[in-house]
Amino acid sequence: MSLLVVGSVAYDSVDTPAGRCSEALGGSAVYFSIASSYFAPTSLVGVVGQDFRDEHLRILKEHSVDTANLEVRPGRTFRWSGVYGAEDVNTRDTLDTQLNVFADFSPRLSPEVVRAPYLFLANIDPELQIDVLAQMESRPRLVALDTMDFWIDGKRELLERAVRSADVLFMDAGETRSFAGEPNLVRAAEAILALGPTAVVVKRGEHGSLLFFEDGSVFSAPAFPLRNVVDPTGAGDSFAGGFLGYLSATHDLNGDGLRRAAVVGSVMGSFAVESFSTDRIGSLTRTEIRTRLEAMTELSRFLPLWEGEALPWRTDGASMEN
Ligand code: AMP
Repeated sequence: MSLLVVGSVAYDSVDTPAGRCSEALGGSAVYFSIASSYFAPTSLVGVVGQDFRDEHLRILKEHSVDTANLEVRPGRTFRWSGVYGAEDVNTRDTLDTQLNVFADFSPRLSPEVVRAPYLFLANIDPELQIDVLAQMESRPRLVALDTMDFWIDGKRELLERAVRSADVLFMDAGETRSFAGEPNLVRAAEAILALGPTAVVVKRGEHGSLLFFEDGSVFSAPAFPLRNVVDPTGAGDSFAGGFLGYLSATHDLNGDGLRRAAVVGSVMGSFAVESFSTDRIGSLTRTEIRTRLEAMTELSRFLPLWEGEALPWRTDGASMEN
């Protein structure tokens, strides 16, 4: 298996301006692995309760996601519920988080997955993220990590340990500021880079994402402008799934590779929000993904100044710097 993910497998109940949906398949590892499965073989590490339905396991299997390390335990599956702003769909409040079977989950990775070259520590208890990384036979080529305010507020020290061992960090803008304790996004990203990651991906919802690199360079990936946003849940995980899935397939880990991975991630995130649960992200064709990637390229295409071309400057003689 080339790509391993540990994260939540959940039943989500969400309220968005487009409607309401209850007890639907969700979870960080689910959105991630479905999105990444289009590009690279993916294994999922997680736990569900005995209430987890066969039809949902089938969805993962239909995408050839390896579920050998998805344990079924006595108890209830993780539950999360949230509500999105009526005016601004970028704002979300968590109403309830029930860890259930995740509360005392301690995975034992199978020998088939401990050599995976790409590892995604999706949004879940940082203790679990550290535990999974420690079980890898050798350090993966790339370790990426995502988290959420729930863990930033609840398990900051452990989370900081996990961040120190990651290469690429994914956080939304609010989480970046709160984790770094710095209101300015650029300074916040720099503070996180100082902990060890080589790149910090700041997700900004419908405003796209910013990639901050350790050499000081920054890349901006747009979000695809959509007429119909149904449910933003899972956008971040699908973004990460596209990002890591693309890198696992290309092994292109230089700056240009990461930039393109971010745009592929943006494409996958844009599909995730077009339906509740995994309906849209789970039923894509290669042509649909390619067409949207091309549209993304067009979205931010502009002609650079050719070499030697002068920047237009006023010529009315007013005294300004020349
Ligand atoms: P995203 O919208 O991509 O940030 O992720 C939303 C997903 O994260 C939902 O499907 C939830 O089930 C899952 N989730 C919410 N809170 C947590 C948490 N504290 N730990 C792990 N997963 C969570």
